[in-house]
Amino acid sequence: MAQKNSVIANKKINEKKLNLAKKIILDLQTELKKAIRAGCGPFLAAIYDSKGTLIAKCANSVVFESCSHNHAEMNAIKEAERVLGTYDLSPYGLSLYVTAEPCIMCLGGIMWSGIREVYYGVPSKRVEEITGFDEGFKPDWLNEFKKRGITVYGQIEVEAGEEVLKSYVEQGHTIYKPERKTK
Ligand SMILES: [Zn+2]
Repeated sequence: MAQKNSVIANKKINEKKLNLAKKIILDLQTELKKAIRAGCGPFLAAIYDSKGTLIAKCANSVVFESCSHNHAEMNAIKEAERVLGTYDLSPYGLSLYVTAEPCIMCLGGIMWSGIREVYYGVPSKRVEEITGFDEGFKPDWLNEFKKRGITVYGQIEVEAGEEVLKSYVEQGHTIYKPERKTK
């Protein structure tokens, strides 16, 4: 049977870590519904240390803060760096959990932050199909992250995440992006 929503990874699956990630991402999807009602974009990210302590949790705030950089992952990284007082998170063994696959900008942000592990929900292709957001071009990024020692587990609890994105669109919220002139 086709496993279109099966988990993908750039390292051997660690069942314990994966089960924890499923719980965290499901909780994030539930919390995201409240964040959307409060005016946030439809993405939520959390950063935990290796002991399981929450360091930062942030939603997408592009619209209400009028800043195109304010994706959930970027906000969470900025908050973690503020809390820990450093631009280099690598000594802290941090894991980032996010409701959808990071976009091209956030992949850069994650790479330069020192985050060690990334767990995400809905894959970019489905985000684009459901919402119309442009997630960017990201050739072979799981392998590129592996080369840099960043573990990735993706497509975790996809259906729950897709439901939240669909409701964002159905409620008529903003699909923010610049105007494209391609001709
Ligand atoms: Zn992003």
